[in-house]
Amino acid sequence: MVKYIGIRYMQALLAQRSVERIIAGLADYIDADYQRWPVFEKTIRLASHSAQGVIELMPISDGNLYAFKYVNGHPSNPGRGLLTVTAFGVLADVASGYPRLLSELTISTALRTAATSLLAARSMARADSRVMALIGNGAQSEFQAIAFHCLLGIKRVQVFDIDPAATQKLCRNLAAYPALQVVPAASVAEAVQGADIVTTVTADKRNAVILTPGMLEPGMHINAIGGDCPGKTELHRDVLAAARVVVEFEAQSRIEGELQQMAPDFAVTELWQVLSGQAPGRELDEEVTVFDSVGFALEDFSTLRFLDALSEQLSDELEIDSIDLIPTQSDPKDLYQMAIDDVAPYQGHR
Ligand code: NAD
Repeated sequence: MVKYIGIRYMQALLAQRSVERIIAGLADYIDADYQRWPVFEKTIRLASHSAQGVIELMPISDGNLYAFKYVNGHPSNPGRGLLTVTAFGVLADVASGYPRLLSELTISTALRTAATSLLAARSMARADSRVMALIGNGAQSEFQAIAFHCLLGIKRVQVFDIDPAATQKLCRNLAAYPALQVVPAASVAEAVQGADIVTTVTADKRNAVILTPGMLEPGMHINAIGGDCPGKTELHRDVLAAARVVVEFEAQSRIEGELQQMAPDFAVTELWQVLSGQAPGRELDEEVTVFDSVGFALEDFSTLRFLDALSEQLSDELEIDSIDLIPTQSDPKDLYQMAIDDVAPYQGHR
């Protein structure tokens, strides 16, 4: 049997542990894996593009464990009552090739993206950052706000979305964090005014220009999450030109990130270099820094490892499911007998 983590389990886990505690735990796992960067077999993700969006596969291995994530990005989905981003993934043992965990990764992607943003900001944002602008108030936005508030010291978020209902939803959800001041803004320019950190997490399948050079203030850190596909960006190219830019995996970010707008020799630093202390995330208080995030397979590998370990640790409190994804039989060469051995009436998975 293969361990299975579904939506119901994730809800129970978050109810038991809190969103911020899970993000903190994920950040530790992601950090630990980025510190081991050279051991990973890395590849850019395999993307299948359509007019509506993209479906991607994200594989990675450290030689002991192998993981992949299936993820989509369809910005027009909410108009049809569907999420823009959904995902699931598998963690497998390299030695046998057997999967050990099949997990939902839709909620987990929002958590791990916030955890990765947090890790980057810890090294790249000014230590005295207290105000964040949050542009794009959809599915990912609460997770980003909670991570930066609870784990980085942000006290005020200035929020903007072209959809007022999304902003109202964000304000409603963040009311559970009374120490965080949430201020709706009338425009991007108003939201970013006075912000130490600007998080852009919009979804639009085009080269949008959410942030222009005129909106930059000295010392700003930009946490650019939403531009993650060819032809889908959020920042004016001159914002990048004016900043120190950190990416996850350069080969992938040149294709998918804000970086796709820049010349091939435009210099960037990879996140693992910053996290391992080999390169600075910020050198001067007044410099502008950009974390050009697209999401890398390592972060999902860490997430699956984290969920695998946490579900073991909590097994007395939260019962973990399993599914019969892989056949079990006494003679591994007799798949046929096992396949026709339909003795019990079929009653579904559970
Ligand atoms: P979502 O559709 O739930 O929310 C996106 C929001 O952006 C919507 O409310 C929309 O109205 C708003 N928006 C669109 N254009 C805007 C504009 N010009 N100004 C202000 N707001 C605007 O999507 P989501 O799940 O929150 O994801 C947001 C983006 O983040 C997507 O593009 C997704 O692909 C990306 N993403 C990146 C990572 C990563 O690791 N970097 C992880 C997950 C999602």
